Amino acid sequence: MTGTPLLKCAGVSKRFGGIRALDGVDLEVGEGEIIGLVGPNGSGKTTLLSCIAGSHSVSSGTIELAGHDIARSAPHRRAHAGIARTFQVPRPLGSFTVVENVAMSMMFGRDRVARTAALDRADLVLERVGLDAHRDRAVGVLTLHERKFLEIARALALDPRLILLDEVLGGLNPAEAAEGMSLIASLRDSGVAVVYIEHNVRAVASLADRMYVLDRGRNLAHGSPEAVLADPSVVAAYLGGEVDA
Ligand code: ADP
Ligand code: MG
Repeated sequence: MTGTPLLKCAGVSKRFGGIRALDGVDLEVGEGEIIGLVGPNGSGKTTLLSCIAGSHSVSSGTIELAGHDIARSAPHRRAHAGIARTFQVPRPLGSFTVVENVAMSMMFGRDRVARTAALDRADLVLERVGLDAHRDRAVGVLTLHERKFLEIARALALDPRLILLDEVLGGLNPAEAAEGMSLIASLRDSGVAVVYIEHNVRAVASLADRMYVLDRGRNLAHGSPEAVLADPSVVAAYLGGEVDA
């Protein structure tokens, strides 16, 4: 990677009381790159996304977006600067329809569009994730697959430069997961950089340009998917057995 990275985390630490969830983590994301972020349960992946998006403050370390320090900016300022995230457990606004959920995300997003314009643009985003036929349904009746894709749509509504995806394919059947993976690839093709956490390491490896592995809050390995999957310390972290664990 050359020049200023889109995102640069250096020495990021996060403590929760006595727990060191992150202990000096480094991560760089280039413009339009897909970064796969993996690691055993509890290794700090979600905490790192929360520190990048701003829902957690860092205990120490720096986070820069395109060279600007954002480590202490409020979450909405980071959203305006182009960072969007999804949550491991989808968080739609339950009493609204699918299209309203996306429109509301937009109205409070990067350029604060007005309601009518937001609804128009929401339809374009729903088409992009394949939920256009569901626009007027209440979110409460959606399947898990639809809720996960709505979560991606709400993040995309912010017109992000960087999208942080936390296990968006978890719990989906193979056909749905394949659909999700081509959606993620299409994000990169449209110029959005992606940090992509997924439990299935091989699914991550098949999409990612580069991967980072965390273990107990620290960097364990990073590099090309091939190099990372062949790294003995990575294999050992996954209980010395299948990397699919
Ligand atoms: P992962 O997403 O890799 O499974 P997490 O980032 O969720 O890991 O968690 C990393 C560690 O931090 C775990 O030990 C977890 O219990 C702890 N942790 C995460 N969030 C909190 C929190 N809000 N309060 C206290 N401990 C937390
Ligand atoms: Mg997690």
